[in-house]
Amino acid sequence: MKKKKSTKPSPYIIELNNVTKIYKDSSTGANSAQHALHGVNLKVKPGEFVFIVGESGSGKSTMIKLLLRELTPTEGTINVMGYDLNHIRHHKIPKFRRNIGIVFQNFRLLNDRNVYENVAFAQRIIQRSNKEIRRNVPAVLARVGLAGKYKAKPKHLSGGEQQRVAIARALVNKPSILLCDEPTGNLDPKITWDIMKLLENINEQGTTVLVVTHNADIVNSMQKRVITLEKGVIVSDEEKGGYIDED
Ligand code: ADP
Ligand code: MG
Repeated sequence: MKKKKSTKPSPYIIELNNVTKIYKDSSTGANSAQHALHGVNLKVKPGEFVFIVGESGSGKSTMIKLLLRELTPTEGTINVMGYDLNHIRHHKIPKFRRNIGIVFQNFRLLNDRNVYENVAFAQRIIQRSNKEIRRNVPAVLARVGLAGKYKAKPKHLSGGEQQRVAIARALVNKPSILLCDEPTGNLDPKITWDIMKLLENINEQGTTVLVVTHNADIVNSMQKRVITLEKGVIVSDEEKGGYIDED
């Protein structure tokens, strides 16, 4: 019997090999002089918690967008959850993204919808039945500590609560990976701690979590893996690392 061709599954949920990203100038179409990322190699195992730190403009958001396949690299390869993102077919991208939750600094909630609807929306996009939605939305709202707030509109919530709604929305479809791009950038220190603890708890339940942050106190005390970007280059990658103080 002919043996089926099989490729060995990667032990990594995220793998960047020699990734360079150069943006094109939108008006001239010419490559910009600066590399947003340059020769980046990164491997993340399922279940890891990783901080990504670095000054403004160092390439953190570019990395997040590459992982979501919102951008493609100028050079190099990216593999996420077994998908080769240079060769993924266009019609497969929505299914790919369904397994990644994303949280932004500015929450990006639907302001005319209540908490329940903001979270249910993510389930409707992937055509979950009303029965499933009625089960999953309250469960995820309880998980982020918002069980009692399901009827509230975003403007009646604090910043920390709004970010919890965004986290619930990112989690409701049970993603394998949660990407957070400066999730606490608009929040005060106490709330920042609560949100980071929530992300740690989500990670402990099995989700791979990547968090871009500027918050040195948090990074230093949480003792997680820390990747530091500088001008598009990974300058350090440490288990239980700290924030490199530039000053
Ligand atoms: P960070 O998130 O660390 O602040 P970014 O990934 O947003 O950094 O940006 C990295 C570099 O790429 C910066 O020099 C930025 O100006 C540039 N850049 C980001 N987005 C674009 C874009 N859409 N077009 C051109 N240049 C960009
Ligand atoms: Mg950014």
